Amino acid sequence: MRKKNDIRSLSLDELTFFFLKNKYPAYRAKQVYEWLWKKSCYSFNEMTNISIELRELLKNEFVINNIKVDKFQKSKDGTIKNAIKLYDNLIVESVLIPSENRITACVSSQVGCSLDCEFCATSKMDRIRNLNSDEIYDQVVAINSQSLNFHGRPLSNIVFMGMGEPLLNYSNILDGIEKITSDQGLGMSPKRITVSTSGISKMIKKMADDNVKFNLAISLHSAIESTRNKIMPFTKKFPLQELKDAVSYWYDKTKKIITYEYIVWKGINDDDEHLDALIKFCKISPSKVNIIEYNKTDNSIYNSASRDNINKYIKKLEKNKIPVTVRKSRGKDIDAACGQLANKIK
Ligand code: SAH
Repeated sequence: MRKKNDIRSLSLDELTFFFLKNKYPAYRAKQVYEWLWKKSCYSFNEMTNISIELRELLKNEFVINNIKVDKFQKSKDGTIKNAIKLYDNLIVESVLIPSENRITACVSSQVGCSLDCEFCATSKMDRIRNLNSDEIYDQVVAINSQSLNFHGRPLSNIVFMGMGEPLLNYSNILDGIEKITSDQGLGMSPKRITVSTSGISKMIKKMADDNVKFNLAISLHSAIESTRNKIMPFTKKFPLQELKDAVSYWYDKTKKIITYEYIVWKGINDDDEHLDALIKFCKISPSKVNIIEYNKTDNSIYNSASRDNINKYIKKLEKNKIPVTVRKSRGKDIDAACGQLANKIK
């Protein structure tokens, strides 16, 4: 049997071309496009404003490769972790994180991850494949409907902090965000979207060149090369100097502030030398620091720094006029917190 194409891999122009070729008017393509993107329709039968004959033509030519929420788990703090099944039966996880004034979706960019951050559970999985732009968009749509169901309001923010390294799947992330922000999609503001990278310098420069409108967060965790190489071994191929250059480049082009994600670990980076290096790094361009509470993963040799040492970080950053926030873990009881996504849903 001939393999059918996923209709959602077609742009509106391509879809219009298909309709005209089959002697249907162009506005039909627009209607179908709306069903696919604005209304997140998963079956041609649901497209009630187009004729049965046209629906049959579409069914013969195309499939709609939708994702499914296979299972979900709810934490006692309201966080929901979803196991999302892709068309080829692979699973990724996406998380809904409600708080008083925002509802955030944490979405995945790859099935598994090719990086080797020692402290992260996802890094213990192999990278199996990149998510395509539809799968990225669909995760957001699925979590948005959960947000509406459980909280009566839509998502307010999206962070690409789930499984995978977004900047190693750059063009699909960009296309996915394009759909999330476009009027045909969810019409969300790019200012409410943050892409988090472990620091792929070349791609940070590319993002600056592309003049992207969403926010950038960098998982720094140490501004001292030897420590960074130890906790994130892949960074041996991504020197800190290149990251510094990329950060300056980003600011020159976009004038956007960068968030540095930073975990403070006992005996790894909780001393003054690391703190001073971080402060120096933060002065390259306007930035803020998000101190992330460490979530211990299976067999981890890492331990969170003491309260006192974390407070020392906060005080000295503030003294240097660098805004600092502390991100409390959410959904820890269901392994939904940062760095815990490893397809272990029960
Ligand atoms: N690959 C991207 C996005 C995924 S990780 C990146 O590295 O930024 C999202 C955030 O969770 C990163 O800042 C990452 O360093 C952090 N993280 C990973 N493991 C963690 C853990 N065990 N506890 C707390 N944060 C963790």
